[in-house]
Amino acid sequence: MPTTVNCPTCEKPVLWGEQSPHRPFCSKRCQLIDLGEWSDESNTISSPISTEQKHGDAQALIEDIEAMLAKNDDSFFKE
Ligand SMILES: [Zn+2]
Repeated sequence: MPTTVNCPTCEKPVLWGEQSPHRPFCSKRCQLIDLGEWSDESNTISSPISTEQKHGDAQALIEDIEAMLAKNDDSFFKE
């Protein structure tokens, strides 16, 4: 019987195992939302440095956020 947890962001059940690399989140999107506390509505990253303290793969995460933001709103990084 596989263990499941509820995604902290959207509360969908998530299998706790290798098939869920973003556990306890259901997806990378939910992980990004939780870690960065941003959404499509407000592209705000309050403190990227604190995510590095929480998660060792923060650099990859930041790159993903940058890639997503570049797609959604490339004005975000402009001065
Ligand atoms: Zn989720």
